[in-house]
Amino acid sequence: MTTTAKATGKATSTVITNIGSLVTNDPSLSATGGGSRDPLGLIPGAAAVVIDGDRVAWVGDARKAPATDNRLDAGGRALLPGFVDSHSHLLFAGDRGAEFAARMSGRPYTAGGIRTTVAATRAATDADIAATLTRFLGEALRQGTTTQETKSGYGLTVHDEARALEIAARHTDEVTYLGAHVVAPEFAGDPAGYVALVTGAMLDACAPHARWVDVFCERGAFDGDQARAVLTAGMSRGLTPRVHANQLGHGPGVQLAVELGAASADHCTHLTDADVDALASAADTTVATLLPGAEFSTRARYPDARRLLDAGAAVALSTDCNPGSSFTTSMPFCVAVAVRDMGMTPDEAVHAATHGGARALRRQDIGRIAPGARADLLLLDAPSHVHLAYRPGVPLAAAVWKDGVLREWRRDSGLLLDQQPAAQP
Ligand SMILES: [Zn+2]
Repeated sequence: MTTTAKATGKATSTVITNIGSLVTNDPSLSATGGGSRDPLGLIPGAAAVVIDGDRVAWVGDARKAPATDNRLDAGGRALLPGFVDSHSHLLFAGDRGAEFAARMSGRPYTAGGIRTTVAATRAATDADIAATLTRFLGEALRQGTTTQETKSGYGLTVHDEARALEIAARHTDEVTYLGAHVVAPEFAGDPAGYVALVTGAMLDACAPHARWVDVFCERGAFDGDQARAVLTAGMSRGLTPRVHANQLGHGPGVQLAVELGAASADHCTHLTDADVDALASAADTTVATLLPGAEFSTRARYPDARRLLDAGAAVALSTDCNPGSSFTTSMPFCVAVAVRDMGMTPDEAVHAATHGGARALRRQDIGRIAPGARADLLLLDAPSHVHLAYRPGVPLAAAVWKDGVLREWRRDSGLLLDQQPAAQP
């Protein structure tokens, strides 16, 4: 029990031993000798990881692990980097369960439903919005998500967009300004006027709280010219672009994302060969972020991950968690769907949900388990990461560390209850 108390405290070193299967996402650490053939950098059997403070200090054969303050026996469980969910919309109020039920009865999904949430969000207090955000961040963490991007886009006034981003910035570094989610209802007859607001006074109020600028480039939302205006205005204020692209149909979103050097083109469901080629040639810059929860919850055709991977595009998986079209915080669910229905192997899906998300957020310090990386770790109640797809819908997270701190663990897993403090040097 001493170990438990220490492990939940700060600034001590801990070795996690007896890891049954370790996903490092660092090919140079792969047990097969490294190289690009094993992007997971998998170390099967008896691996160990040392956490020192908020960082990973050491990775390798458990028998060679350095002395530490604490020791935790993983009991043969799999360890992988915490999930990096690079696309979500958690700054909202209200519930759209009835709309979901209607859609499952045959009504199609359109961009217009967003306005329902806008009305509820504007009516909510700051405390309501903060409580909703922290509830979903906790829900995601319990499932292994250690980095969560989130966006505005349900306020659509200067005040409501800025307050949402200010709230978000208290809880995550990955904050995205999405004033251009849909045209605000007040501007229904004047979309140009709304774009002027989004690129003017609203941007002024929002830019200090955000890292990213995003736009819903889609029929019914913003066309290519409007999207370009939104993104370039954000870039001129130091924000980096990402784009909701090609979700509901073919359009200019993907090409615009690549042209502007966006960190990601998100959705990528309806792609021409030219779109796929563009993403492949921009693989070092622009990640194709696939959001299978949206297709699942709108009963739509899934993006073809196989086509993107075979072409050489960089692929991430994210939840798109939002109350209208994808109300899940579960990265394991997205991994399972991507494997079952999008042509990804379990290895590719896990890589996309961890390292892929980190790339989509242009982060080197997360999405991998290697010396110097942030100690954001997910221990599964399973012998292998494959179980994330093999056992869909099952809560497999046995323990989750963020910044080296044990934040969640399953009380019924037996973990941590019989640990002995490591021998001192
Ligand atoms: Zn989205």
